[in-house]
Amino acid sequence: MNYSEIMVRYGELSTKGKNKRKFTMQLAQNVKRALADFPAIKIHGDRDRMHILLNGEQSELIFPKLEKVFGIQSFSPSIRVEKEMPAIREMVKEVIRAAYLPGQTFKITSKRSDHHFELDSNELNRELGGAVFEVFPDIKVQMKKPDINIRVEIRQEAAYLSYETIRGAGGLPVGTAGRGMLMLSGGIDSPVAGYLAMKRGVEIEAVHFASPPYTSEQALQKAKDLAGKLVPYVGSIQFVEVPFTEIQEEIKRVVPQGYWMTVTRRLMLRLTDAIREQREGLVIINGESLGQVASQTLQSMAAINEVTTTPIIRPVVTMDKTEIIELAEKIDTFELAIQPFEDCCTIFAPPQPKTKPRLEKAQEYEARLDVSSLMERALAGLKVSEITGESATDRNSDEFLDLL
Ligand code: ATP
Ligand code: MG
Repeated sequence: MNYSEIMVRYGELSTKGKNKRKFTMQLAQNVKRALADFPAIKIHGDRDRMHILLNGEQSELIFPKLEKVFGIQSFSPSIRVEKEMPAIREMVKEVIRAAYLPGQTFKITSKRSDHHFELDSNELNRELGGAVFEVFPDIKVQMKKPDINIRVEIRQEAAYLSYETIRGAGGLPVGTAGRGMLMLSGGIDSPVAGYLAMKRGVEIEAVHFASPPYTSEQALQKAKDLAGKLVPYVGSIQFVEVPFTEIQEEIKRVVPQGYWMTVTRRLMLRLTDAIREQREGLVIINGESLGQVASQTLQSMAAINEVTTTPIIRPVVTMDKTEIIELAEKIDTFELAIQPFEDCCTIFAPPQPKTKPRLEKAQEYEARLDVSSLMERALAGLKVSEITGESATDRNSDEFLDLL
């Protein structure tokens, strides 16, 4: 089909009262960014809908990008036709030929915003239903939940036909909730946590702890590649690499084995919080899932969480591993996440971490470290890079041009 525009239905944002304008503006900006490769398109947003005028750009290339923009309930591509009955009838026939499978039901839903048009909406429904019967005489009409609903809209400038409704990503436009620091390891859980936080409007930056030479260049690259998989939802991601070697060596030297993990996590959280403050974030996001490993018991979480009062979102905390994996597959992070590169926590994992660490003990052992100067040095060594795409091979521009 040769579509001329895509009509976008807002998700939850339409219920946000006074903030609605802010939400729709953010959504329009996010759509523009997601479709930056299509320079000819024009976006018009109003209170209830957004219209993306394609101006010759190919809708099939645009759909997959639009499906990753949070804040969209659904969208329908539509065909523009001259506002004359013969032309509209012909297009209805073309649509039904393209859409119909044997045994399916249909209806026509017409709407006029041009009240001077020769037929009213009831007459349009009847007339255009007739056109469908000319093509498929045995097709059945069904008013409630038909298989095919051909929507016809008579506007001032032209008539518009649509019949497909494509489900959007739901959620709220990324950016409307503020900024959050995603603690991104190379595992399965944290990318999913990042995805879910973005779904509720959080714009994320990634914080990754690396302990070279104990952790490899590949492990770092893997974390960056995982961040790359989240880019289509947000446009680009600032990736903050934290040098963590000195701290881990120091912990290993002065803290009893049973508390390595707890103290390590406390330092990670302290550093993430300091980075959040520098970068004007409001929240921290991690991939903790209750009971999954020693550091993720409630006692552990309490002993670790004590270092900050900043809200921490744990989107996967109540999910089973299989549920998390399902989402990881959906956002295409699973295959990458199971590549076996050692993470800083695995390398220093004590044989028997405490599953019920005591807060006073954790504080006591942590006090053996010179926390502030260790943190200062780590913060002085931050490396920030911008992740903008999956990888160089993802967007081969020549190949891309061929498609157009
Ligand atoms: P994941 O699959 O996300 O690695 P996990 O089940 O392996 O999670 P842990 O390794 O215990 O769990 O880590 C719990 C959370 O701590 C992670 O989800 C992540 O948010 C954070 N985290 C762990 N390691 C790192 C790291 N190297 N850099 C940044 N964050 C980390
Ligand atoms: Mg991990």
